[in-house]
Amino acid sequence: FHTTAFLGLGAMGAPMAAHLSARSRASGGQTLVWNRTPGRAQEHAAQHGSVAATLEDAAGADLIVSCLPTSAEVDEVLDAAHAHLKPGSVWVDCTSGHPDAAPRQRDQLSSAGVRFLDAPVSGGTVAAKAGTLTVMVGGPADVLDAVRPQLAFAGKVVRVGDTGAGFAVKAVNNALLAVNLWAAGEGLAILGLRGVELGAALEVINASSGRSNTTENLIPQRVLTREFPATFGLGLLAKDAGIALDMAEQARGSAPVIAQVTGLYRAASRVVGAQEDHTAALKLIEQMNGVVLR
Ligand code: NDP
Repeated sequence: FHTTAFLGLGAMGAPMAAHLSARSRASGGQTLVWNRTPGRAQEHAAQHGSVAATLEDAAGADLIVSCLPTSAEVDEVLDAAHAHLKPGSVWVDCTSGHPDAAPRQRDQLSSAGVRFLDAPVSGGTVAAKAGTLTVMVGGPADVLDAVRPQLAFAGKVVRVGDTGAGFAVKAVNNALLAVNLWAAGEGLAILGLRGVELGAALEVINASSGRSNTTENLIPQRVLTREFPATFGLGLLAKDAGIALDMAEQARGSAPVIAQVTGLYRAASRVVGAQEDHTAALKLIEQMNGVVLR
């Protein structure tokens, strides 16, 4: 892989592309970066030594990595890039995408001689900056073997199955995050209504069986502080829970908790704001209960 390209310099994409760029530069190559709003690509180039590029130029890279909000935006970008793709290259989509989109995207790319991996990531902006993201990959093992050393933003890379399996695992992971976060918010609202001090309650819960990443990290750091730093959008988490629900429905499975939680996060996105941090979903629980989680 002589040239790599990164498409989508958002909260996750920008730090991921910085790691790709550092790796390319260390081996005498370069990383082209493209963003819908071009100023962000120019800023990235100035900060990280990447090269701001047009989509046409980026599409000609040997390795293309994308990280966009949903599979719908990936489809748009893929359509626009298609005529400029180079046979033999690999497209790695790190979007938390929809498993239904993956085989379609694979086939569309295959018609241009390009191979595809769905490779969503987990760990948030902290792990993206540290270069320690967990990557869950769907697609052929030989394609992953070829690109694995290039994934400079990754800590752990696991092939979870064929095309679409990466997106499927990511959606379920985030549905679990949504459930844990919502459940912890309800539990703390109940305690808040009784006048229990929430910091003390969390100290105990975090030494007990009710703990999760949400009680250990997200709620103390983002909710009780009232900071709600917008690193992962509430609308994106509602989207992920919805993908998990889609999968349950397509298989005629039964997942009533995930169905409820999807509805609640969609409501929270509307009421609180899709661009707010995902932890701000708990502001809806606060409104429902007339308490503030502090
Ligand atoms: P952001 O909202 O921060 O960034 C979105 C990026 O997509 C921006 O570069 C934006 O460009 C671009 N974009 C939006 N719409 C279009 C479009 N129609 N055409 C082309 N480009 C477009 O998102 P995140 O970085 O937070 O998330 C990206 C993906 O990663 C999502 O699938 C998310 O679920 C997933 N994810 C996010 C995590 C997080 O902690 N934030 C953690 C793990 C996964 P522009 O600058 O022009 O707006």
